[in-house]
Amino acid sequence: MNDVSALLYLVASVLFILALKGLSSPATARRGNILGIAGMVIAIATTLSMPAIENYAMILFGIMIGGIFGTVIARKIAMTAMPQLVAAFHSLVGLAAVLIASAALYAPESYGIGNSGNIHAGSLLEMSLGAVIGAITFTGSIIAFAKLQGILSGKPLRFSGQNMVNALLGLSLILLILLFCITESKFLFILMVLLSFALGVLLIVPIGGADMPVVVSMLNSYSGWAASGIGFTLGNPLLIITGALVGASGAILSYIMCKAMNRSIINVIFGGFGAHAQAASIVGDASDKPVKSGSAEDAAFLLKNSSSVIIVPGYGMAVAQAQHAVREMAEELEKEGIKVRYAIHPVAGRMPGHMNVLLAEANVPYDSVVELEEINNDFSTTDVAFVIGANDVTNPAAKNNPSSPIFGMPVLDVGSAKTVIFVKRGMAAGYAGIENELFYQDNTMMLFGDAKKVTEALVKALKA
Ligand code: NDP
Repeated sequence: MNDVSALLYLVASVLFILALKGLSSPATARRGNILGIAGMVIAIATTLSMPAIENYAMILFGIMIGGIFGTVIARKIAMTAMPQLVAAFHSLVGLAAVLIASAALYAPESYGIGNSGNIHAGSLLEMSLGAVIGAITFTGSIIAFAKLQGILSGKPLRFSGQNMVNALLGLSLILLILLFCITESKFLFILMVLLSFALGVLLIVPIGGADMPVVVSMLNSYSGWAASGIGFTLGNPLLIITGALVGASGAILSYIMCKAMNRSIINVIFGGFGAHAQAASIVGDASDKPVKSGSAEDAAFLLKNSSSVIIVPGYGMAVAQAQHAVREMAEELEKEGIKVRYAIHPVAGRMPGHMNVLLAEANVPYDSVVELEEINNDFSTTDVAFVIGANDVTNPAAKNNPSSPIFGMPVLDVGSAKTVIFVKRGMAAGYAGIENELFYQDNTMMLFGDAKKVTEALVKALKA
């Protein structure tokens, strides 16, 4: 690589780092995206201008196919389906790592890593690590996709001795990598990839749906490390740096989410961390407990007569696309001198930051959007907690029911507000499949209906 290419790669790397920094806050996210795009344009142009590139037609053809698919999918995909899309994309990064490692093994001369039967030892290690991590990412991401898409049940799938099987597979893989580096046997390489495919499945199936956000971010991290490993095989410093950035930022995000959900990061890495939950814990029987429900007018009356309101958005608000109506409702209340804030749970919705993005899209001011740990103590001094399409993130079972799949996850203490209004269509459970005892609490009023329609009716009632 010449000096100019190396310098341009460095510029692209710095732009990627600045992009990540920008993406850490909704206020700077747009700028972060633009910096990331600029970095990627520089990276692709620099790579394409290298003398080793001979066949432009094939590369352009590949870019066209990928570009068309990517554009169509990105335009069509619903915001609520974003986690499964990310999981599906990660699976492709993993598969690409496996394919590149295989290509390097079968045609080492083209990669400048030696000759067939005499590949450099360092390259053998890099390609086996890239292939193993890539294969685990590939099948693991497919399982995560299937669980999030509802193709597979979100419940943890466990069998006895599962951890032992995983540990044996892990040890066998380490042994196979060592043997492969010594013998360069193609059979061992194929065996290694097949066992890694199996390990990817086994690591993800025992994880319950409610823990899926951490899994998606962990797989993101794995795909980064796989790309980084392949960067060594290809001798491409930018791929090494970019892969490491993705790997490290995914791991940090997973760590932050684990802390937010009170899970152990070690259990996430080795799989099965939702395992303590044998089945969804049902708190009583929904059918025989009385529930208070009211109309939009009742809710408007309660809200108008309060002095402070905390809005708790969740997945249902995203499905109904009710964020604009919610902002309008908040504005009506603020006109009356009522203090309105939004409480954000780290895993509300179906992806990290989901609620922040929706509220930013509806032009809700950033300073009224408050994270869980900063606002949780304020519910006890709040008149109305207005919970719209959120369920699991408010469920007290996370604190008081050790057999619950969400036990240990911090939750928003909406129940301690003077009045809680739950907006949802019926009595259905949330993502974790468990009942929420708050629905039956004395200070709760259920406001049944589609989140958008109900909020629009509420705005009308407030204006009247
Ligand atoms: P939940 O999934 O717990 O609850 C959403 C509620 O919204 C449901 O009970 C549903 O009840 C209601 N709802 C659905 N559609 C509508 C609609 N059109 N109008 C009104 N209400 C509606 O959501 P939360 O946000 O509280 O919690 C997120 C859950 O998802 C957590 O368990 C989390 O672990 C998990 N998760 C989070 C991810 C992330 O990264 N944020 C990724 C993957 C999973 P009803 O059907 O009765 O209307």
